[in-house]
Amino acid sequence: MKAPRFAYARPASIAQALALLAEHKDDARVLAGGQSLVPMLNFRVAAPKVLVDVNRIGALAGIKVAKDHVRIGALTRHVELERSEEIARHLPLLSQAMPYVAHPAIRNRGTFGGSCALADPAAELPACALALDATFVLAGKKGERRVAAKDFFKGLYATALKPGELLVAAEFPRAKAGYVSAFGELARRHGDYAMVGVAIHGSTKGGKFSQLRVAFFGVGDRPVRAAQFERALDGEAATPTAVEGALAKLDADLQPRADLQASAATKLHLAKVITGRALRQMEGVAS
Ligand SMILES: Cc1cc2nc3c(=O)[nH]c(=O)nc-3n(C[C@H](O)[C@H](O)[C@H](O)COP(=O)(O)OP(=O)(O)OC[C@H]3O[C@@H](n4cnc5c(N)ncnc54)[C@H](O)[C@@H]3O)c2cc1C
Repeated sequence: MKAPRFAYARPASIAQALALLAEHKDDARVLAGGQSLVPMLNFRVAAPKVLVDVNRIGALAGIKVAKDHVRIGALTRHVELERSEEIARHLPLLSQAMPYVAHPAIRNRGTFGGSCALADPAAELPACALALDATFVLAGKKGERRVAAKDFFKGLYATALKPGELLVAAEFPRAKAGYVSAFGELARRHGDYAMVGVAIHGSTKGGKFSQLRVAFFGVGDRPVRAAQFERALDGEAATPTAVEGALAKLDADLQPRADLQASAATKLHLAKVITGRALRQMEGVAS
């Protein structure tokens, strides 16, 4: 199928983009990498009257390292995150996750902001943002506002973005000394959206787990933290035995729904398998 007719605008600045979004409200849709939106247009799942192409807005792109955080512009391509030495140094969880985001051709065009604004519940980057306690920077006609990752993802393909707002960037606290990350995912084919995945960040200083943040994707309508599992490991020796002992807590944390890929029970089982595997391989965990 072909996309329905739409008007096309290519603003050169954030201010121009916001003016267009304010003018057209629900009739407008931001076009970033187009890797999800263009298929949605072609399948007629989306039919905006106006596409606001933000690809020329340099201020939306790039990775900036500040004293205490790393700012990732919404228009930063997946491939830039994947290859960035600064991301590898300061946000290693993202470097671990990026090879699982779609396929190289899609990563060349797809953007960090597009992935987070789309909020597919099986996507890697929203779960990483939750595990890393990122803050999203949203701009509207009245100025900027900041929304914590835990409040940004509202449900199935739903975020805190209001009509007329643009996702500008996200700010990630820089990983502190002794803090390490682990990532795990199962998909039918490498590059497909996950059947289930997990993003983990926390400390193994002194041979003990602390401040673990464990975020799952592909198990609900949005990325979910596993609070009981995190509590069960807090202060425990960073050993495979402790990990095995705590995995049963995921029964209370996760309520996956069956989908075309797997039953709810299979998803829960797989969540435990990949979490155990990821934590056993995490730096600082005894072998
Ligand atoms: C075959 C295939 C496999 C894929 N597999 C995966 C996968 O395994 N994991 C994964 O995470 N993704 C996957 N994707 C999706 C891919 O990562 C997309 O690039 C991403 O989801 C959307 O990014 P985009 O820049 O292309 O956004 P677009 O397609 O341009 O936009 C997506 C949505 O976000 C909105 N949007 C974009 N930018 C902004 C902004 N700055 N402010 C407000 N709204 C905005 C758009 O209006 C639209 O609603 C896959 C895609 C394909 C086609």
